[in-house]
Amino acid sequence: MANSKFEYVKHFEQPDTLLPNTWIVVRIDGRGFTKFANKYSFAKPNDRRALDVMNAAAKAVVTELPDITIAYGVSDEYSFVFHKSSTLFERRASKLVSTIVSTFTAYYIYSWPTYFPDSPLAPPLPSFDGRAVCYPSLQNLRDYMSWRQVDCHINNLYNTTFWALIQLGGMDGKEAEKELAGTFAADKNEILFKRFNINYNNEPEIYKKGSVIFRDYELVEPDSHHVAEDVEDLAQPAQQSKTQMENDKKKRAKARITVEHLDIIKDDFWNRRPWLLS
Ligand code: ATP
Ligand code: ATP
Ligand code: MG
Ligand code: MG
Ligand code: MG
Ligand code: MG
Repeated sequence: MANSKFEYVKHFEQPDTLLPNTWIVVRIDGRGFTKFANKYSFAKPNDRRALDVMNAAAKAVVTELPDITIAYGVSDEYSFVFHKSSTLFERRASKLVSTIVSTFTAYYIYSWPTYFPDSPLAPPLPSFDGRAVCYPSLQNLRDYMSWRQVDCHINNLYNTTFWALIQLGGMDGKEAEKELAGTFAADKNEILFKRFNINYNNEPEIYKKGSVIFRDYELVEPDSHHVAEDVEDLAQPAQQSKTQMENDKKKRAKARITVEHLDIIKDDFWNRRPWLLS
C-alpha cells in the first residue's frame, strides 16, 4: 500500500487536534431515548435499571481509558473528563469522541441483559452521539460539572412532581404541565409534600444528584500519611520523571473505580480528592 499513486487522498484529512493543556470533556447522549424509554417501558420518572446500564457502560469506559479523570452521568447522557495533560490519540477530537462513543455503546449493549433480563434488545439498537469541548481553566471545568448537576436537579424535581401529579394525583399530562407552569422549586417541593406526603430530600441520591465515576486511591483520611505521599506524587505532573510518570500510570490502572452519587458543585468533593484535578 505504501507509496501508491492513490496515497495523496490521505492529505484530504483535516487536522482536529484539541488545544493543548486544556481539560477535554467528551459528552455523549442517547439518540432518541424518549422513544427508547417507551419501547422498553422505563419506569417514570426514573428507571433505576436504565441508570444502572448507563453506569456500567461508563465505568467500563473509565476502566479502559486511564486518561479519564472523572465522569458524570444523568439520564441518557455521560460526560467524560480527560486530564489536561492527556496526549491520548495526540488529542485528536474525532478519535477521542468516536472511541468513547463506540466503547460506551458496546458496553451499554453488553450490560443490558444484566439489568433487563426479561427485555432483550431488538433493532433499532440504542446508539449515542458525542462531542468534545475544551475547558481552559479549572473554574470552567468545575462550572461545567456544576452545570450538568444543576440540570439533573432541576429536571428531576420537575419530573418527580410532574409524575406524582399523574401517578398519584390522577391528572393527565396536559393538566400536570399546566399545574407546574411558572412554579419555582419551593412550589414543587410544597406540592410533593402537601399533596402527596413526599419529602423530596428523601428521594434516592442517584436521582437527585446523578452519578459520578472516579478513581479512588484509598480514601484520603487526614491521618493517613502514605496516601498523602501518593497524592503529592500525582500533584506534580509537570516536573515528573519518566519513572514517576510510569508509576502514576500503574497507580491509575490499579486504582479502584467507584460510582457515587455525590454533590460535585460544592468544594468539599474536590477538596477531599485533590488528585482528581491536580
Ligand atoms: P435526542 O436524540 O435529541 O437526545 P432524546 O429523546 O434522547 O432525543 P433527551 O433530551 O436526551 O432526548 O432525553 C432523554 C430521554 O430519555 C428523556 O425523555 C428521559 O425521560 C428518558 N430517559 C433517559 N433515562 C431514563 C431513565 N433512567 N428513566 C426514565 N426515563 C429515562
Ligand atoms: P489502531 O488502534 O491504531 O487502529 P490496530 O492494531 O487496530 O491499531 P490497524 O492499522 O487498524 O491497527 O490494523 C488492524 C489490525 O487488525 C491488523 O493487524 C490486521 O492484521 C488485523 N485484522 C483486522 N481485520 C482482520 C481480519 N479480518 N483478519 C485478520 N486480521 C485482521
Ligand atoms: Mg441529544
Ligand atoms: Mg438523548
Ligand atoms: Mg439527554
Ligand atoms: Mg485499528
